[in-house]
Amino acid sequence: MPGHLLTLNAGSSSIKFALFDAAGDLAAPVQAGQVEGIGTRGGPADHTQALRQVLDRLGPAPVAAVGHRIVHGGTHFEAPCIVDDAVLAQIEALAPLAPLHQPHNLAGVRAAQAAFPGVPQVACFDTAFHRTMPEVHQRFALPEELFRRGIRRYGFHGLSYESIAAQLAARQPALAAGRAVVAHLGNGCSMCALQGGRSVATTMSFSPLDGLTMGTRCGRLDAAVVLHLQQQEGWPVDDVSRLLHEGSGLLGLSGLASDMRELEAAAAQGHEGATRAIDHFVEQVLRELAALAAALRGLDAVVFTGGIGENSAGLRARIVQGARWLGLQLDDEANRLGPRGPGRITTDDSPVQALVLRTNEEAVIARHTARLTGVGSS
Ligand code: AMP
Repeated sequence: MPGHLLTLNAGSSSIKFALFDAAGDLAAPVQAGQVEGIGTRGGPADHTQALRQVLDRLGPAPVAAVGHRIVHGGTHFEAPCIVDDAVLAQIEALAPLAPLHQPHNLAGVRAAQAAFPGVPQVACFDTAFHRTMPEVHQRFALPEELFRRGIRRYGFHGLSYESIAAQLAARQPALAAGRAVVAHLGNGCSMCALQGGRSVATTMSFSPLDGLTMGTRCGRLDAAVVLHLQQQEGWPVDDVSRLLHEGSGLLGLSGLASDMRELEAAAAQGHEGATRAIDHFVEQVLRELAALAAALRGLDAVVFTGGIGENSAGLRARIVQGARWLGLQLDDEANRLGPRGPGRITTDDSPVQALVLRTNEEAVIARHTARLTGVGSS
């Protein structure tokens, strides 16, 4: 069946979209962009209006199938699936587990159903890739009863890890068959331990708040801090939530910005807060790298991806040098080139290899959407 595949990533205030020619290259969209400012003055009122703006930009290209990024698939969804009423109800039922993301993802699906009546919609879950984690890595040290009720480590960024696992298998099959840690370092940050391309453990857990120091999210935190703020200092729950999600991480540490490029520029000028934030970021990545290598009982490769991982040679250098004891030996020149070079940023004889690969979550969604709907297959 000919036509175009549309991928949508609906967040709280934006819809990112990519359009693929179903008969063409599913790794390269013919058009991509985003509509921002949903619910703000001057922006679209809601996701339906935002999608209308996306459609205006797309022009007359006939859309034969739509693929959606859905943050939470719980324990039920182990793979992408076609959206029907039952699936929609299950996605909705998972909203309390991801209140900051899932309702917006759902709004995107509903807006697309209304805009493209009869066109198949596919849900691709960020958690699904981690369903292969052994149970020990899915558990907190909490009573079993809570685990059964869904209080567990799910893991996120799964579409990105799937993209990287596929690229690694295509480029370096021997490394892909072994033990790799992927560092997805962007606005949101997480790391994943892969054994033969399957997720074994990851740093985000019950929600995308856990693990590494992020742009505005705190990452790993003693739960007693939350209790203290509420019980001793009387903070309302919403304020604590805002602090942890929007006012912490690089922004909170630096008192300046959540954006790594801005922080690197400020640190180069001697800004103390920026230096403090970057130091914290690097240290957390190094600690989690060692923890994930331990979960794998060894390490063959490290892969950097995401806005920071792909673009900041300085941070990659600090991380690889800090992990020298694990067997990583940096190749300065290759690192400077990053993804524009051969992709490998360690020396030929480095016992553990490090690579830089560009993640392509939209391509993963497009591939699943094509496969499940038959759009694009002749
Ligand atoms: P993402 O969420 O994957 O789009 O990544 C966004 C993050 O990548 C932001 O913190 C950006 O500042 C950072 N980033 C993008 N380009 C660069 C760069 N050239 N150097 C350092 N950080 C960068």
